[in-house]
Amino acid sequence: MSEISFEKPDPKDFLGIDALLSDEEKLLRDTVREYVEKEITPHIAEWWEEGVIPHADLAKSFGELGMLGMHLEGYGCAGTSNVAYGLACLELEAGDSGIRSFVSVQGSLAMFPIWKFGSEEQKQTWLPPMAKGEVLGCFGLTEADAGSDPASMRTHARRDGSDWVINGSKMWITNGTIADIAIVWARTDEGVRGFIVPTDSKGFSAPEIKGKASLRASVTSELILDEVRVPDDFVLPGVASMRGPLSCLNEARFGIAFGAMGAARSCYETALDYAIERHQFDRPIASFQLTQRKLVEMMVAVQKGTLLALHLGRRKDAGEITPEQISFGKFDNVRNALEVARTARSILGANGITLEYPVFRHMANLETVFTYEGTNEIHTLILGQAITGLDAFT
Ligand SMILES: Cc1cc2nc3c(=O)[nH]c(=O)nc-3n(C[C@H](O)[C@H](O)[C@H](O)COP(=O)(O)OP(=O)(O)OC[C@H]3O[C@@H](n4cnc5c(N)ncnc54)[C@H](O)[C@@H]3O)c2cc1C
Repeated sequence: MSEISFEKPDPKDFLGIDALLSDEEKLLRDTVREYVEKEITPHIAEWWEEGVIPHADLAKSFGELGMLGMHLEGYGCAGTSNVAYGLACLELEAGDSGIRSFVSVQGSLAMFPIWKFGSEEQKQTWLPPMAKGEVLGCFGLTEADAGSDPASMRTHARRDGSDWVINGSKMWITNGTIADIAIVWARTDEGVRGFIVPTDSKGFSAPEIKGKASLRASVTSELILDEVRVPDDFVLPGVASMRGPLSCLNEARFGIAFGAMGAARSCYETALDYAIERHQFDRPIASFQLTQRKLVEMMVAVQKGTLLALHLGRRKDAGEITPEQISFGKFDNVRNALEVARTARSILGANGITLEYPVFRHMANLETVFTYEGTNEIHTLILGQAITGLDAFT
């Protein structure tokens, strides 16, 4: 019979989750963590406050690190496991949700549809420079009047000889203003189709949406398509239904299940260190029962959420994961991360509202993460439908 170990658990890896990772996974995780600590963390508060990120430099270094489209095979992509991709998302989001979004959009929302539904020629043309960060993509699905119900989109495309002509607009599109190509989903007579639209096409513009109080270290844009003409070989041939965009969302949502735990970990660790250092009534605030309760709730949420993400990653690597299970991860990990961030904010007192600490920034960012890639309510309904067999969407 094996004995119980009486070694004290590590407050920052309480359940020993590290031991569940392979050496290769740990190496990748450590590489991304080091990159974030060196290149992102020292600057992120300033980028966030100014609402400007050095996107070209970031794209180049993410490309060099092999993080763009990293879980895709071939075409210059790193071809890592899904767990490795998830761990990269987690470490990036420990830096900032906007930085993780940058990588998610490029890999899961712009490269993935080309990789999955594109022609051989489209893959050869676009994926290698996208993997290097030389070509940036965005994903245009949401519209001003079609958010949770993207199937109600109005953007449409019609055939005109050997071309397609696209009209409409998209809203809330990450990286839109800085992208070289936009994957635009539009209604056609043949169903919903995906178009690779070069952003220098005539009739295309992508004004940036300003005044955001969340995800400020990320470019968010409107896409306007006014009689934009693309040749037939710019349509993704492999899909003509909502299955196209929805399968991309599954990829990105999977990354978010990991990523949210990165933001939560950062908040928990910041609050733990702060509570031990900060004294009131001649004692560390960590010595008060009320604070300990908060720290324990945060630690448990981070550990459980990380285990959940890892479990989903292993299922995805085994080819066994379902979209509903990905919804489980997005639903539970994001709401818990938001709760962790709010709790950490309270432990930091007045300091908690500043950008000197990462907590408020994470908290504000997580409001976006709670809403995009399927709102918390939409994932609730996906799970509700999965367990009851009844559709409560309409
Ligand atoms: C910073 C940012 C970046 C984004 N990036 C992208 C991107 O790159 N590409 C892209 O295509 N989109 C992007 N989005 C859009 C995002 O996916 C949508 O905001 C999201 O799908 C919700 O749509 P909505 O904002 O129109 O809200 P709505 O759909 O109007 O929802 C409003 C509220 O009503 C609730 N609701 C809606 N329907 C139901 C229902 N049937 N039952 C119960 N409650 C319901 C929602 O849950 C929510 O609480 C981004 C959004 C943000 C904020």
